[in-house]
Amino acid sequence: MRASAYPLIDAAEASALVLERTPVLGVERVALADANGRVLAEDVVATGPLPAFPSSAVDGYAIRFADAGTTLRVLGESAAGRPFDGSVTEGTAARILTGGAVPDGADTVVMVEDTRLDGNRVKVPTDLVAGSNFHRVGADVTAGETVLRAGTQLGAAEIGIAAATGHAQLAVCRRPRVALMSTGDELVEVGKTPGPGQIPDSNRWALLAALREAGADVEVMGIAPDEAEALRSFVTLALRNADVLVTSGGVSVGTHDLVKPLLESIGTVHIGRVKLKPGKPFTFATLEGGKVAFGLPGFPVSSLVTFEVFVRPALRKMQGFAQLQRPTLPVRLGYDARPTAERTEYQRVTLRREGRELVAETTGSQSSSRLLSLAGAHALVQVPAGDMTLKAGTIVEAMILGLP
Ligand code: AMP
Ligand code: MG
Repeated sequence: MRASAYPLIDAAEASALVLERTPVLGVERVALADANGRVLAEDVVATGPLPAFPSSAVDGYAIRFADAGTTLRVLGESAAGRPFDGSVTEGTAARILTGGAVPDGADTVVMVEDTRLDGNRVKVPTDLVAGSNFHRVGADVTAGETVLRAGTQLGAAEIGIAAATGHAQLAVCRRPRVALMSTGDELVEVGKTPGPGQIPDSNRWALLAALREAGADVEVMGIAPDEAEALRSFVTLALRNADVLVTSGGVSVGTHDLVKPLLESIGTVHIGRVKLKPGKPFTFATLEGGKVAFGLPGFPVSSLVTFEVFVRPALRKMQGFAQLQRPTLPVRLGYDARPTAERTEYQRVTLRREGRELVAETTGSQSSSRLLSLAGAHALVQVPAGDMTLKAGTIVEAMILGLP
């Protein structure tokens, strides 16, 4: 073992540094069918109003309000997509169906339930409300209105709005191409029987899921051995196509920990240690061509927690998200949260509702090897470094991973 030469950086400072050094990727245009989950790169503006014509909200008759209480001659019909091409004048009406255009001359629609039809004459009631039962031009969207903002993630409603305003394609940010590799001579492919001293490569699958959830397009590189030249060729191959390199393992101070020296040789290591538990050996480097590399610690919880704290926000920045961080909510601690002397600790908790509050309970042993502490966790509670226990009952802001 050798002492690490890297300064211990405050976790919040490290997070800011990562974001500062992470580029926003370019823009591409995608069809609406491929837009779900993507992030808008440009505002979407409505060129015209919605509705574009006065549109009936009901089935009934388009009339002049001045004709309330009289019997009117029915001139024709305005159905959805088949407008009546005449106009409604004194003493006349046009039958209208939901979505049909209100004809010229009419200023009110009366519901069919409120009328009495006799041949082609219709009796309309006296107690009408002028201008009722139809949607006015521009009632939903005005011409020139910004209907979606850059940085918004597109979901069902947003895609529907884009379609309704006539945008068949949208400008979105490119998704980061991430090369993912595990390092360590002890690792074997999941499903193979581990030999003596070997363990399944579980980080690969955990990180693959986390990366995809964060919007990355992942190329899985497999297991790199703890051998400098072999690791170098793995990384060289990985970086041919990738914007981002994510490795796990090989970043602590053991003699077999080769990721930091390799990143030093091909780029600039900005972070080599953080005051974070779990995840102290987290490593971040910038490489040629605007690429970035994240060396995550090997312990399963450490790799996923550092992913949450550093990698996920960076991937979101690359994709143009307006919101980079997970949302936080105030929660009441249901347990005494003991701090670590020098490091901010992200403790894994479940949440339950008690009256108007959310109460956080620990998921048990917070060992960095015990992935069960993260499985089923609803949130991460940040416990500041020091010697002050956050007593049960204290209100803290929790980083929400997923609500129960
Ligand atoms: P390292 O950061 O390489 O020193 O690894 C720290 C611990 O995490 C060791 O116990 C490793 O065996 C374990 N570890 C490293 N990589 C993985 C992986 N891909 N899947 C599961 N455990 C791992
Ligand atoms: Mg290792």
